[in-house]
Amino acid sequence: MSASLDFRFDNSYARDLEGLYARCQPDTVTAPRLLFLNRPLADELGLDAVPLAGEEGVAMLAGNAVPAGAEPLAQAYAGHQFGHFSPQLGDGRALLLGEVIDARGHRRDIAFKGSGRTPFSRGGDGKAAVGPMLREALMGEAMHALGIPSTRALAVVATGESVYRERVLPGAVLTRVAASHLRVGTFEFLSSRGDGKALRRLADYAIARHDPDLRDAPERDLALLRRVVARQAELMAQWMNVGFIHGVMNTDNMAISGETIDYGPCAFLEAYDPDTVFSSIDERGRYAYGNQPAIARWNLARLAEALLPLIVADPSEAAVREGVAQATEVLDDFPAQYEAALLRGQRAKLGLQLARPEDETGDRALVQDWLDLLRRQQVDFTLAWRRLADAADGDPSGLQALMSEPDALTDWLVRWQARCASEPVSAAERADAMRRVNPFVIPRNHQVEAALTAAFERDDLEPFDRLLAALARPFDETPDNAVFGQPAPAQVTACYRTFCGT
Ligand code: AMP
Ligand code: MG
Repeated sequence: MSASLDFRFDNSYARDLEGLYARCQPDTVTAPRLLFLNRPLADELGLDAVPLAGEEGVAMLAGNAVPAGAEPLAQAYAGHQFGHFSPQLGDGRALLLGEVIDARGHRRDIAFKGSGRTPFSRGGDGKAAVGPMLREALMGEAMHALGIPSTRALAVVATGESVYRERVLPGAVLTRVAASHLRVGTFEFLSSRGDGKALRRLADYAIARHDPDLRDAPERDLALLRRVVARQAELMAQWMNVGFIHGVMNTDNMAISGETIDYGPCAFLEAYDPDTVFSSIDERGRYAYGNQPAIARWNLARLAEALLPLIVADPSEAAVREGVAQATEVLDDFPAQYEAALLRGQRAKLGLQLARPEDETGDRALVQDWLDLLRRQQVDFTLAWRRLADAADGDPSGLQALMSEPDALTDWLVRWQARCASEPVSAAERADAMRRVNPFVIPRNHQVEAALTAAFERDDLEPFDRLLAALARPFDETPDNAVFGQPAPAQVTACYRTFCGT
């Protein structure tokens, strides 16, 4: 192996968390072909993109040659799926290769997705298809460019093999980079087995990895819970403010790190409606756009339960009561943290720079009335905010054109302008600031589908590359990317369904 392909793995998970994984090798594939390589991410990881894109590198990214120092393993975890507990899930089609310390000194997991069966595959084939893997790469890059914590794809390689779903699809392996793959479900796995010793090791591992300053803190497990709650409150606010719908917020798909993880049936909202659901398996709308913060809190309660054996000092009734009360207090703070993070983001989106406490009630009402307007008139969420920036600049015509009843907007605009005028900021400055937080380009469902279809049906990666390039600069609005800012016809969005990438 050439030195430039050296990941310099350091595998703390394999070392420290015996019992939480099964060692397992990736399948070899017949005809690996590189579809996507994330050069900026390769740089961050200290990898040389040129040899990575070469024959030896692609063989490695397909699982045909396990890189030096990797210790492939399938992680065990449990999880609440649509509210129901499964004590044994685990990586059914993923493998952790190992960890790399990146250019900023952060430990990152390098993992495969779609690399074959593992001891946790149950009935599945362990494989993934080109479309869903390119979709994950695209979504992760879009989120990253929007400033939202996310796992990212280092590469997607076509395997040359077929994957059998409702139809025959071309297979692929994605290389995923994550701050870690510790999930709420990882804790549930050990807690549900009553394995207190392993749970202790896992919590200490999580603290060392994500919150090292808590190592010697009093009540460190409660402090860990507090941190995870805080990260999820921030993350949910960010999702809501860009219209992201994860689609399958099971506890095994919620990362302790606070990164967005497991891009399956996710999609972005187009016309604003909190009840929006795209996932074909989410029949009751449990994971609808507007439910996401409540679901996050529900998932965090499952984490709190899993941590309880560590939080409670001794088995006496009094200690249990005290531990439960403490954990509950931490959980009960989630709504306030989420609301604060949401309002912070919304104020920026509205072009408001001063977060004066005396304005809080008024600002909340202002944003709520705006959202009600968007909802009633089924306005495109992303474009509405973007055109509001133009209104800040003195041109409300684009915004009015999005509305079926533009007159209903007039009163609201007057209130908003009055609130803006209470701040010493010029119109041009305000509009600029708004254009830096309100994206023009998001992964629109029809654009994503068109790019993926071209890639896996016609082997044409050009639409994918063009869309990816546009998503990398979501706040730019130019003639070149104008096409990516356009909503799909409403009929298309109304029928749009996403599927788990299984
Ligand atoms: P998800 O909610 O899609 O992240 O996956 C739920 C569980 O199903 C996880 O344990 C996955 O590893 C597993 N899984 C998903 N797809 C497959 C597959 N094709 N083969 C084996 N296991 C799978
Ligand atoms: Mg998952």
